[in-house]
Amino acid sequence: MTRVSEPDLARRFATRAVHAGQLADPLSGAVMTPIYQTSTYIQEGLGKHKGYEYARTRNPTREALERNVAALEGGRHGFAFGSGLAALDAVLKLLSAGDHVVSGENVYGGSHRQMTHIWERLGLAFTFVDGGDTTAVAAAVTPRTKMVYAETPTNPMMRLCDLAATGDVARKAGALFVVDNTFATPFFQQPLQFGADIVLHSTTKYLNGHSDMVGGLLVTSTDELAERLGFIQNSSGAVPGPFDCWLALRGTKTLALRMRQHDANGRRIAEWVSTHPRVERVYYPGLPSHPQHELARRQMKGFGGMISLELGDVGFARRFVERTKIFALAESLGGVESLVGHPASMTHASVPRELREKMGLTDSLVRLSVGIEDVEDLIADLSQALGDD
Ligand code: PLP
Repeated sequence: MTRVSEPDLARRFATRAVHAGQLADPLSGAVMTPIYQTSTYIQEGLGKHKGYEYARTRNPTREALERNVAALEGGRHGFAFGSGLAALDAVLKLLSAGDHVVSGENVYGGSHRQMTHIWERLGLAFTFVDGGDTTAVAAAVTPRTKMVYAETPTNPMMRLCDLAATGDVARKAGALFVVDNTFATPFFQQPLQFGADIVLHSTTKYLNGHSDMVGGLLVTSTDELAERLGFIQNSSGAVPGPFDCWLALRGTKTLALRMRQHDANGRRIAEWVSTHPRVERVYYPGLPSHPQHELARRQMKGFGGMISLELGDVGFARRFVERTKIFALAESLGGVESLVGHPASMTHASVPRELREKMGLTDSLVRLSVGIEDVEDLIADLSQALGDD
Protein backbone atom coordinates (compact mmCIF):
# COMPACT_ATOMS: atom_id res chain seq x y z
CA MET A 1 0.00 0.00 0.00
CA THR A 2 1.51 3.33 -1.07
CA ARG A 3 1.15 6.15 1.43
CA VAL A 4 1.62 9.88 0.87
CA SER A 5 4.17 11.50 3.16
CA GLU A 6 3.27 14.29 5.59
CA PRO A 7 5.83 16.76 4.13
CA ASP A 8 4.29 16.25 0.68
CA LEU A 9 0.80 17.03 2.01
CA ALA A 10 2.07 20.14 3.79
CA ARG A 11 3.15 21.76 0.52
CA ARG A 12 1.09 23.92 -1.84
CA PHE A 13 -0.54 22.53 -4.96
CA ALA A 14 1.96 23.45 -7.69
CA THR A 15 4.85 22.20 -5.54
CA ARG A 16 3.07 18.92 -4.85
CA ALA A 17 2.38 18.56 -8.58
CA VAL A 18 6.10 18.66 -9.36
CA HIS A 19 7.51 16.83 -6.34
CA ALA A 20 4.97 14.82 -4.35
CA GLY A 21 5.60 11.11 -4.24
CA GLN A 22 8.88 11.32 -6.18
CA LEU A 23 11.88 9.65 -4.61
CA ALA A 24 15.42 10.12 -5.90
CA ASP A 25 16.40 6.99 -7.81
CA PRO A 26 18.51 4.89 -5.39
CA LEU A 27 20.84 3.63 -8.15
CA SER A 28 21.80 6.87 -9.92
CA GLY A 29 20.06 9.73 -8.14
CA ALA A 30 18.11 10.44 -11.37
CA VAL A 31 15.95 13.50 -10.77
CA MET A 32 13.06 12.11 -12.78
CA THR A 33 11.39 8.86 -11.74
CA PRO A 34 12.74 6.12 -14.04
CA ILE A 35 10.44 3.87 -16.05
CA TYR A 36 10.86 0.57 -14.20
CA GLN A 37 10.06 -1.54 -17.25
CA THR A 38 10.17 -4.89 -15.51
CA SER A 39 7.71 -7.61 -14.65
CA THR A 40 9.70 -9.04 -11.74
CA TYR A 41 12.50 -8.34 -9.26
CA ILE A 42 15.48 -10.40 -8.07
CA GLN A 43 15.09 -11.90 -4.61
CA GLU A 44 18.25 -12.39 -2.51
CA GLY A 45 16.86 -15.49 -0.89
CA LEU A 46 13.51 -17.04 -0.12
CA GLY A 47 11.34 -14.24 1.28
CA LYS A 48 14.30 -11.80 1.15
CA HIS A 49 13.65 -8.88 -1.22
CA LYS A 50 13.33 -5.09 -1.35
CA GLY A 51 9.55 -5.14 -1.04
CA TYR A 52 9.05 -5.66 -4.77
CA GLU A 53 8.21 -9.20 -5.90
CA TYR A 54 6.04 -8.93 -9.01
CA ALA A 55 5.00 -5.87 -11.04
CA ARG A 56 1.22 -6.44 -10.97
CA THR A 57 1.45 -5.97 -7.22
CA ARG A 58 4.04 -3.20 -7.02
CA ASN A 59 6.01 -1.11 -9.47
CA PRO A 60 8.05 1.95 -8.43
CA THR A 61 6.98 4.11 -11.40
CA ARG A 62 3.33 3.32 -10.73
CA GLU A 63 3.77 4.02 -7.03
CA ALA A 64 5.30 7.43 -7.77
CA LEU A 65 2.21 8.31 -9.83
CA GLU A 66 -0.15 6.93 -7.16
CA ARG A 67 1.48 8.99 -4.43
CA ASN A 68 1.59 12.08 -6.62
CA VAL A 69 -2.10 12.09 -7.56
CA ALA A 70 -3.14 11.11 -4.04
CA ALA A 71 -1.21 14.12 -2.72
CA LEU A 72 -2.85 16.41 -5.30
CA GLU A 73 -6.28 15.27 -4.07
CA GLY A 74 -5.20 15.80 -0.46
CA GLY A 75 -5.55 12.04 0.09
CA ARG A 76 -3.32 9.40 1.64
CA HIS A 77 -3.46 6.49 -0.79
CA GLY A 78 -3.61 6.19 -4.57
CA PHE A 79 -4.28 3.23 -6.86
CA ALA A 80 -3.57 3.36 -10.58
CA PHE A 81 -5.50 1.37 -13.17
CA GLY A 82 -5.33 0.66 -16.89
CA SER A 83 -8.22 3.09 -17.60
CA GLY A 84 -10.82 5.22 -15.85
CA LEU A 85 -13.35 2.45 -16.41
CA ALA A 86 -10.99 -0.09 -14.82
CA ALA A 87 -10.89 2.23 -11.78
CA LEU A 88 -14.71 2.26 -11.73
CA ASP A 89 -14.71 -1.53 -12.01
CA ALA A 90 -12.46 -1.71 -8.93
CA VAL A 91 -14.66 0.70 -6.96
CA LEU A 92 -17.78 -1.33 -7.67
CA LYS A 93 -15.98 -4.50 -6.58
CA LEU A 94 -16.09 -3.06 -3.05
CA LEU A 95 -19.79 -4.03 -3.16
CA SER A 96 -21.57 -7.39 -3.11
CA ALA A 97 -24.54 -8.80 -5.01
CA GLY A 98 -27.73 -7.34 -3.56
CA ASP A 99 -26.17 -3.96 -2.74
CA HIS A 100 -27.71 -0.78 -4.14
CA VAL A 101 -26.02 2.29 -5.64
CA VAL A 102 -27.53 5.74 -6.10
CA SER A 103 -25.76 7.25 -9.10
CA GLY A 104 -26.01 10.55 -10.90
CA GLU A 105 -27.97 9.94 -14.11
CA ASN A 106 -25.55 12.04 -16.13
CA VAL A 107 -22.32 10.12 -15.83
CA TYR A 108 -19.90 9.32 -18.64
CA GLY A 109 -21.68 6.98 -21.07
CA GLY A 110 -19.12 4.23 -20.52
CA SER A 111 -19.63 4.41 -16.74
CA HIS A 112 -23.40 4.08 -17.23
CA ARG A 113 -22.86 1.17 -19.62
CA GLN A 114 -20.60 -0.68 -17.16
CA MET A 115 -23.10 -0.19 -14.34
CA THR A 116 -26.17 -1.28 -16.31
CA HIS A 117 -24.72 -3.95 -18.62
CA ILE A 118 -22.19 -5.61 -16.33
CA TRP A 119 -22.88 -4.85 -12.68
CA GLU A 120 -26.67 -5.11 -12.82
CA ARG A 121 -26.27 -8.58 -14.38
CA LEU A 122 -23.94 -9.53 -11.52
CA GLY A 123 -26.45 -8.47 -8.86
CA LEU A 124 -25.84 -4.80 -8.03
CA ALA A 125 -28.88 -2.51 -8.24
CA PHE A 126 -28.69 1.10 -9.45
CA THR A 127 -31.03 4.06 -9.20
CA PHE A 128 -30.09 6.94 -11.48
CA VAL A 129 -31.19 10.38 -10.34
CA ASP A 130 -30.28 13.99 -11.06
CA GLY A 131 -27.11 14.25 -8.97
CA GLY A 132 -27.64 18.02 -8.81
CA ASP A 133 -30.82 17.48 -6.80
CA THR A 134 -29.69 16.41 -3.32
CA THR A 135 -33.32 15.78 -2.26
CA ALA A 136 -33.71 13.31 -5.13
CA VAL A 137 -30.46 11.59 -4.14
CA ALA A 138 -31.67 11.26 -0.52
CA ALA A 139 -35.09 9.99 -1.66
CA ALA A 140 -33.45 7.25 -3.74
CA VAL A 141 -31.57 5.83 -0.75
CA THR A 142 -32.87 2.45 0.45
CA PRO A 143 -31.74 0.24 3.36
CA ARG A 144 -29.60 -1.64 0.79
CA THR A 145 -27.79 1.49 -0.46
CA LYS A 146 -24.04 1.06 -0.03
CA MET A 147 -22.72 3.71 -2.40
CA VAL A 148 -23.57 7.16 -3.72
CA TYR A 149 -21.77 7.89 -6.98
CA ALA A 150 -21.45 11.30 -8.64
CA GLU A 151 -19.63 13.18 -11.34
CA THR A 152 -19.32 16.92 -10.90
CA PRO A 153 -19.34 18.74 -13.25
CA THR A 154 -21.05 16.04 -15.29
CA ASN A 155 -20.08 14.91 -18.74
CA PRO A 156 -21.47 16.59 -20.89
CA MET A 157 -24.30 18.56 -19.24
CA MET A 158 -21.97 20.37 -16.80
CA ARG A 159 -24.43 19.81 -13.98
CA LEU A 160 -22.99 20.00 -10.46
CA CYS A 161 -23.50 17.78 -7.46
CA ASP A 162 -23.44 19.60 -4.11
CA LEU A 163 -20.49 17.70 -2.64
CA ALA A 164 -20.96 18.64 1.03
CA ALA A 165 -24.73 18.01 1.03
CA THR A 166 -24.46 14.74 -0.92
CA GLY A 167 -21.63 13.61 1.36
CA ASP A 168 -24.01 14.13 4.30
CA VAL A 169 -26.70 12.04 2.61
CA ALA A 170 -24.22 9.22 2.02
CA ARG A 171 -22.84 9.35 5.56
CA LYS A 172 -26.33 9.22 7.10
CA ALA A 173 -27.13 6.22 4.90
CA GLY A 174 -23.89 4.49 5.94
CA ALA A 175 -22.93 4.46 2.24
CA LEU A 176 -19.62 5.24 0.53
CA PHE A 177 -19.50 8.51 -1.38
CA VAL A 178 -17.51 8.18 -4.60
CA VAL A 179 -16.80 11.21 -6.81
CA ASP A 180 -15.49 11.19 -10.36
CA ASN A 181 -13.29 14.31 -10.37
CA THR A 182 -12.08 13.92 -13.96
CA PHE A 183 -13.58 17.18 -15.28
CA ALA A 184 -12.61 19.53 -12.44
CA THR A 185 -9.26 17.95 -11.48
CA PRO A 186 -7.86 18.49 -7.97
CA PHE A 187 -6.58 21.88 -9.08
CA PHE A 188 -10.14 23.21 -9.02
CA GLN A 189 -11.94 20.86 -6.64
CA GLN A 190 -10.93 18.36 -3.97
CA PRO A 191 -13.91 16.14 -3.13
CA LEU A 192 -12.21 14.44 -0.14
CA GLN A 193 -12.39 17.82 1.65
CA PHE A 194 -16.17 17.78 1.18
CA GLY A 195 -16.66 14.31 2.63
CA ALA A 196 -16.05 12.01 -0.35
CA ASP A 197 -14.59 8.61 0.60
CA ILE A 198 -13.03 7.87 -2.79
CA VAL A 199 -12.10 10.08 -5.73
CA LEU A 200 -11.97 8.57 -9.21
CA HIS A 201 -10.06 9.83 -12.24
CA SER A 202 -9.70 9.00 -15.83
CA THR A 203 -6.02 10.01 -15.95
CA THR A 204 -6.43 9.79 -19.72
CA LYS A 205 -7.84 13.32 -19.49
CA TYR A 206 -6.48 16.41 -17.68
CA LEU A 207 -4.09 14.65 -15.28
CA ASN A 208 -2.03 13.29 -18.15
CA GLY A 209 -3.13 16.20 -20.32
CA HIS A 210 -1.41 15.24 -23.58
CA SER A 211 -3.80 12.67 -25.09
CA ASP A 212 -1.09 10.02 -25.31
CA MET A 213 -2.14 7.34 -22.80
CA VAL A 214 -5.19 5.75 -21.19
CA GLY A 215 -5.37 5.31 -17.42
CA GLY A 216 -7.40 5.59 -14.25
CA LEU A 217 -6.76 6.34 -10.60
CA LEU A 218 -8.49 6.08 -7.24
CA VAL A 219 -7.63 8.10 -4.15
CA THR A 220 -8.78 7.64 -0.58
CA SER A 221 -7.67 8.79 2.86
CA THR A 222 -9.16 5.82 4.69
CA ASP A 223 -6.69 3.04 5.55
CA GLU A 224 -9.42 0.39 5.59
CA LEU A 225 -10.65 1.32 2.10
CA ALA A 226 -7.05 1.48 0.90
CA GLU A 227 -6.46 -2.09 2.10
CA ARG A 228 -9.50 -3.29 0.19
CA LEU A 229 -8.75 -1.31 -2.97
CA GLY A 230 -5.15 -2.52 -2.96
CA PHE A 231 -6.40 -6.09 -2.68
CA ILE A 232 -8.81 -5.58 -5.60
CA GLN A 233 -6.14 -3.83 -7.70
CA ASN A 234 -3.78 -6.77 -7.25
CA SER A 235 -6.41 -9.52 -7.44
CA SER A 236 -8.25 -8.23 -10.51
CA GLY A 237 -5.01 -7.01 -12.04
CA ALA A 238 -6.19 -4.12 -14.24
CA VAL A 239 -2.95 -2.22 -13.65
CA PRO A 240 -1.31 0.25 -16.07
CA GLY A 241 2.14 -0.34 -17.52
CA PRO A 242 5.08 1.68 -16.20
CA PHE A 243 5.47 3.75 -19.36
CA ASP A 244 1.87 4.98 -19.19
CA CYS A 245 2.37 5.78 -15.49
CA TRP A 246 5.48 7.74 -16.37
CA LEU A 247 3.60 9.70 -19.05
CA ALA A 248 0.84 10.54 -16.57
CA LEU A 249 3.43 11.53 -13.98
CA ARG A 250 5.07 13.80 -16.51
CA GLY A 251 1.63 15.30 -17.15
CA THR A 252 0.73 16.01 -13.53
CA LYS A 253 3.88 18.11 -13.10
CA THR A 254 2.34 20.82 -15.31
CA LEU A 255 -1.24 20.38 -14.12
CA ALA A 256 -1.39 23.74 -12.33
CA LEU A 257 -0.04 25.63 -15.33
CA ARG A 258 -2.27 23.86 -17.81
CA MET A 259 -5.45 24.16 -15.76
CA ARG A 260 -4.96 27.92 -15.40
CA GLN A 261 -4.82 28.24 -19.16
CA HIS A 262 -7.75 25.83 -19.79
CA ASP A 263 -9.74 27.93 -17.33
CA ALA A 264 -8.78 31.30 -18.84
CA ASN A 265 -9.57 30.07 -22.36
CA GLY A 266 -12.73 28.30 -21.17
CA ARG A 267 -14.16 31.41 -19.50
CA ARG A 268 -13.41 33.61 -22.48
CA ILE A 269 -14.93 31.18 -24.98
CA ALA A 270 -18.00 30.51 -22.80
CA GLU A 271 -18.68 34.25 -22.70
CA TRP A 272 -18.12 34.61 -26.42
CA VAL A 273 -20.42 31.74 -27.44
CA SER A 274 -23.12 32.87 -25.02
CA THR A 275 -23.66 36.04 -27.06
CA HIS A 276 -23.61 34.22 -30.42
CA PRO A 277 -26.99 34.21 -32.21
CA ARG A 278 -26.56 30.63 -33.54
CA VAL A 279 -25.92 29.17 -30.06
CA GLU A 280 -29.16 28.50 -28.18
CA ARG A 281 -27.67 27.58 -24.83
CA VAL A 282 -24.26 27.34 -23.19
CA TYR A 283 -23.52 24.89 -20.37
CA TYR A 284 -20.55 26.17 -18.36
CA PRO A 285 -20.54 26.49 -14.55
CA GLY A 286 -18.40 29.65 -14.71
CA LEU A 287 -21.19 31.64 -16.38
CA PRO A 288 -23.52 33.53 -14.01
CA SER A 289 -26.39 32.16 -16.16
CA HIS A 290 -25.52 28.58 -15.10
CA PRO A 291 -28.30 27.55 -12.67
CA GLN A 292 -25.70 26.26 -10.17
CA HIS A 293 -23.16 29.08 -10.57
CA GLU A 294 -23.26 29.91 -6.85
CA LEU A 295 -22.57 26.29 -5.93
CA ALA A 296 -19.74 26.22 -8.49
CA ARG A 297 -18.16 29.25 -6.83
CA ARG A 298 -18.49 27.58 -3.43
CA GLN A 299 -16.95 24.22 -4.19
CA MET A 300 -14.69 24.92 -7.19
CA LYS A 301 -11.70 27.24 -7.48
CA GLY A 302 -12.07 27.56 -11.26
CA PHE A 303 -14.25 26.15 -14.02
CA GLY A 304 -11.86 24.71 -16.59
CA GLY A 305 -12.18 24.18 -20.30
CA MET A 306 -15.23 21.95 -20.77
CA ILE A 307 -18.19 23.70 -22.42
CA SER A 308 -21.31 22.22 -23.99
CA LEU A 309 -23.36 24.08 -26.58
CA GLU A 310 -26.97 23.54 -27.60
CA LEU A 311 -27.09 24.40 -31.28
CA GLY A 312 -30.82 23.69 -31.70
CA ASP A 313 -30.58 21.81 -34.97
CA VAL A 314 -28.98 18.42 -35.68
CA GLY A 315 -27.87 19.31 -39.22
CA PHE A 316 -26.26 22.51 -38.02
CA ALA A 317 -24.52 20.66 -35.16
CA ARG A 318 -23.15 18.15 -37.66
CA ARG A 319 -21.88 20.90 -39.98
CA PHE A 320 -20.33 22.71 -36.99
CA VAL A 321 -18.29 19.72 -35.74
CA GLU A 322 -17.14 18.99 -39.29
CA ARG A 323 -16.14 22.59 -40.02
CA THR A 324 -13.87 23.36 -37.08
CA LYS A 325 -10.21 23.31 -38.04
CA ILE A 326 -8.29 23.73 -34.77
CA PHE A 327 -10.92 21.95 -32.65
CA ALA A 328 -10.43 18.35 -33.84
CA LEU A 329 -13.50 16.12 -34.00
CA ALA A 330 -12.55 13.34 -31.59
CA GLU A 331 -13.60 11.40 -28.50
CA SER A 332 -11.90 12.26 -25.19
CA LEU A 333 -11.03 15.58 -23.55
CA GLY A 334 -8.59 17.31 -21.27
CA GLY A 335 -5.55 17.44 -23.56
CA VAL A 336 -3.53 20.52 -24.42
CA GLU A 337 -5.21 20.49 -27.84
CA SER A 338 -8.80 21.59 -28.40
CA LEU A 339 -11.34 18.92 -29.29
CA VAL A 340 -14.98 18.97 -30.28
CA GLY A 341 -17.37 16.07 -29.80
CA HIS A 342 -20.98 15.07 -30.43
CA PRO A 343 -21.97 13.29 -27.18
CA ALA A 344 -25.21 11.71 -28.48
CA SER A 345 -23.36 9.72 -31.15
CA MET A 346 -19.93 9.50 -29.52
CA THR A 347 -19.22 9.44 -25.76
CA HIS A 348 -22.86 8.90 -24.70
CA ALA A 349 -24.15 6.74 -27.55
CA SER A 350 -24.56 3.83 -25.11
CA VAL A 351 -26.96 5.82 -22.89
CA PRO A 352 -30.62 5.09 -23.78
CA ARG A 353 -32.22 7.89 -25.80
CA GLU A 354 -35.00 8.49 -23.20
CA LEU A 355 -32.41 9.10 -20.47
CA ARG A 356 -30.38 11.34 -22.79
CA GLU A 357 -33.47 13.39 -23.58
CA LYS A 358 -34.48 13.62 -19.91
CA MET A 359 -31.07 15.17 -19.15
CA GLY A 360 -31.21 17.60 -22.08
CA LEU A 361 -28.51 15.67 -23.95
CA THR A 362 -30.01 16.29 -27.38
CA ASP A 363 -28.75 15.31 -30.82
CA SER A 364 -27.90 18.97 -31.39
CA LEU A 365 -25.63 19.27 -28.34
CA VAL A 366 -21.91 19.58 -29.00
CA ARG A 367 -19.11 19.46 -26.43
CA LEU A 368 -15.92 21.49 -26.51
CA SER A 369 -12.74 20.53 -24.72
CA VAL A 370 -10.95 23.87 -24.85
CA GLY A 371 -7.20 23.42 -25.04
CA ILE A 372 -4.35 25.76 -24.17
CA GLU A 373 -3.82 27.29 -27.64
CA ASP A 374 -4.08 31.04 -28.23
CA VAL A 375 -7.69 31.87 -27.41
CA GLU A 376 -8.05 34.33 -30.32
CA ASP A 377 -7.28 31.51 -32.77
CA LEU A 378 -9.82 29.29 -31.01
CA ILE A 379 -12.52 31.96 -31.19
CA ALA A 380 -11.76 32.57 -34.89
CA ASP A 381 -12.12 28.83 -35.50
CA LEU A 382 -15.46 28.63 -33.68
CA SER A 383 -16.63 31.76 -35.45
CA GLN A 384 -16.02 30.35 -38.94
CA ALA A 385 -17.55 26.99 -37.96
CA LEU A 386 -20.68 28.79 -36.71
CA GLY A 387 -20.91 30.41 -40.17
CA ASP A 388 -19.85 33.95 -39.32
CA ASP A 389 -18.01 34.41 -42.61
N1 PLP B 1 -15.08 9.50 -16.22
C1 PLP B 1 -15.26 10.52 -17.08
C2 PLP B 1 -15.88 11.80 -16.59
C3 PLP B 1 -14.90 10.38 -18.42
O1 PLP B 1 -15.10 11.40 -19.27
C4 PLP B 1 -14.34 9.15 -18.85
C5 PLP B 1 -13.96 8.94 -20.26
O2 PLP B 1 -14.29 9.71 -21.13
C6 PLP B 1 -14.18 8.11 -17.94
C7 PLP B 1 -14.55 8.32 -16.62
C8 PLP B 1 -13.62 6.78 -18.35
O3 PLP B 1 -12.24 6.87 -18.47
P1 PLP B 1 -11.36 5.98 -19.50
O4 PLP B 1 -11.77 6.40 -20.87
O5 PLP B 1 -9.96 6.36 -19.14
O6 PLP B 1 -11.70 4.56 -19.23
